[in-house]
Amino acid sequence: QNPPRSTDPHVPLPGEDGLLPERGTPTLSCVIPCHNEAQNLELLLPRLAELLPTLSRAWEVVLVDDGSRDATAAVIARWARQPGFVGRVLSRNFGKEAAITAGLEAAAGEVVVIMDADLQHPPSLIEPMLAHWREGADVVYAVRSHRDDEAWVKRVGTGVFYRLLNAFDRFEVPEGAGDFRLMDRGAVDALLQLPERNRFMKGLYAWVGFRAVPLPYVPEARVHGRSSFSFKRLLNLSLAGLTSFTTWPLRIVSVVGLLVALVGFLYGGFLIIQYLLWGNEVSGWTTIVVTLMLFLGLQMVFLGIIGEYVGRIFEEVKGRPLYVVHRALGRGLGRREP
Ligand code: UDP
Ligand code: MG
Repeated sequence: QNPPRSTDPHVPLPGEDGLLPERGTPTLSCVIPCHNEAQNLELLLPRLAELLPTLSRAWEVVLVDDGSRDATAAVIARWARQPGFVGRVLSRNFGKEAAITAGLEAAAGEVVVIMDADLQHPPSLIEPMLAHWREGADVVYAVRSHRDDEAWVKRVGTGVFYRLLNAFDRFEVPEGAGDFRLMDRGAVDALLQLPERNRFMKGLYAWVGFRAVPLPYVPEARVHGRSSFSFKRLLNLSLAGLTSFTTWPLRIVSVVGLLVALVGFLYGGFLIIQYLLWGNEVSGWTTIVVTLMLFLGLQMVFLGIIGEYVGRIFEEVKGRPLYVVHRALGRGLGRREP
C-alpha cells in the first residue's frame, strides 16, 4: 500500500480521521540558518520579536551561525542575551542543510518554522501557516508562485532536476517548495531521526510525509548581501539530491549494458555467418575505432554514475557528525530530552 502523497492538497478537517487533538495556541520555534547575514538579522529579528508573541503561547528564535565571516556571530551573541533568542555558532561553514538540522535539534517548540535570514521569506506568512496547522496540517510549506525573478537557465535546470528526482517514486518532492515551512513537532522529530549525512532537506521533508499543504507566496528580494548558492553549488546540491533519493540511474546502466550486449551478440552472429559464406577481406578500420571509442566513453560515464553513489556511501559510512557546535548561546523554550 502506498503512503499518501505528501503533496496531496486535501487535508482532513480536525476529527475527520479521528487522529487530531485540539490545536490551540502552540509554543513556537523559529529556526534561521545564517551565513554572513549580520545586516539582515538586525532587520529581521526586531520584526520577529514583535510578531511572535502575538502568535504563540511561548516562542523562541533559534539562530544558527553557519561559519559566517562577517559579524553574524557577534550579532547573534548580542541578541541571545534577550530571553527567547537562542544561538548556535557552528565551528565552520557546514552548509545550509546542516545548519537547519542544527537549528531543528535545538528547537523545542510544538510548532517549528524554518526561514531564511535574508528577508526573502516574509514573516507575515507565519500567521496563515499557523492557521493551516490549526485546521489539521502537520506541514505547511511555502511555494513560490512564480520564478520570473530567475534566469531561464536556472528555471529549465530546476524543471529537469525535479523530473529526474521524481521519476519512479512513491513520494513526490514538490517543485517550488523550499525550506520556508512550518512543521509540527511530530514531523520535526521524524526528520531528526533520519540518520543520513547527505541531508538533501527538500527530499527528506517529502520522505517523512505527514499531512502537508502548500501555501503560495511571492518571495521578496534579498535585502543585503548576495545569495550563497552559485551555479556550482546548486549543481552539487542536485547531485546530492539525486544520489540520495534515486537508484534508477543505476538501473539504466544495467539496462543499457544488456541492450548493448544483445546487439553485440547479434552482430557477432551475423559476422560469423558472413565469414563462413564469403570469407573475410580485412577492412572496417573506421567501424572498429568508432565503436571502440563509443563504448569506452559509455563505460566511463557509467563508472562515473556508479562512482557518485559509491562516494555517497563512503560519506555515510564514515558516520561523522553533521556539524560541530562551537558555542551555544541563550535560553529559549528549553529542549526537552526525548
Ligand atoms: N545559508 C547557510 N549556510 C550556507 C549558505 C546559506 O546557513 O552555507 C543560509 C543563508 O544565510 C540564508 C539561507 O541559508 O539564510 C538561504 O541562503 P541564500 O539566500 O544565500 O540562498 P537563496 O535565497 O539564493 O536560495
Ligand atoms: Mg536568499
